[in-house]
Amino acid sequence: MEEKKAESRRRFLTGSAAAAGAAALGAGITPASAQDAGYVMDLPPVISMEINGTSDRFPVNRVYCLGRNYAAHALESGDDPTVNPPFFFIKPRDAVVDYREGHPYPLKTQALRYEAEMVVALKSGGENIDPADALDHIYAYGVSLDMTREDLQHEAQRLSRPWSISKAFDKSAPVGPLTRVEDVGHTGDEGRIWLSVNGEIKQDSDLSLQRWSVAEGIAILSQHYELRAGDIILTGTPEGIGLVQRGDVIRAGVENLGEIRVEIT
Ligand code: MN
Repeated sequence: MEEKKAESRRRFLTGSAAAAGAAALGAGITPASAQDAGYVMDLPPVISMEINGTSDRFPVNRVYCLGRNYAAHALESGDDPTVNPPFFFIKPRDAVVDYREGHPYPLKTQALRYEAEMVVALKSGGENIDPADALDHIYAYGVSLDMTREDLQHEAQRLSRPWSISKAFDKSAPVGPLTRVEDVGHTGDEGRIWLSVNGEIKQDSDLSLQRWSVAEGIAILSQHYELRAGDIILTGTPEGIGLVQRGDVIRAGVENLGEIRVEIT
């Protein structure tokens, strides 16, 4: 298995995909095969996601997240969805980890929160994407958690500080394998999204309740950033958020996209 993975990675780094990947990821990111070309330290690792039905992997570029994309969750967060639209924040790409790694209880918090989210993974991008064309940029969909240090988030909110420290911490986005559009179609606007802790259902909603559809989310995001191949979007969580402790087992799933099991360690 490890060997297969390594082989897949080698092929990714050395094959024709490497050139395409390097171009898509921008000038600052270089394949590891260039390691001998004069860098003062080892290059950062390529962060990638498993894909159902193939041993090839999806290389992650940026990680965008939607906040308050479900009205009931906006309300439980003290927001007024009739006044304030959803919004965006970002996690570092290496926050993305395979769900099988589990989730180590993070540093500097006593209030670790789960949020079940659907992932949209892009194969192409651009600026000011027309909503009518937005779905054409999607390569795959998946399941993730947007883990949150809630106490630090509340402090940031109280002091009008950025959310970064509460949202963009190490390993804060456990993800499952992606399912390709060619295998499942465009499944991002309808279907159950749910999460349980130790077998008890905590979140149980439907993608149709997203305030911004997948196409709208991509289109609006592309008004702020030039989207690129490899970008992923965590599309927000429904109501029912709560805290977890060490030893708790989270399961989260999205209809048609499978489920993940994440143990808090
Ligand atoms: Mn979230």
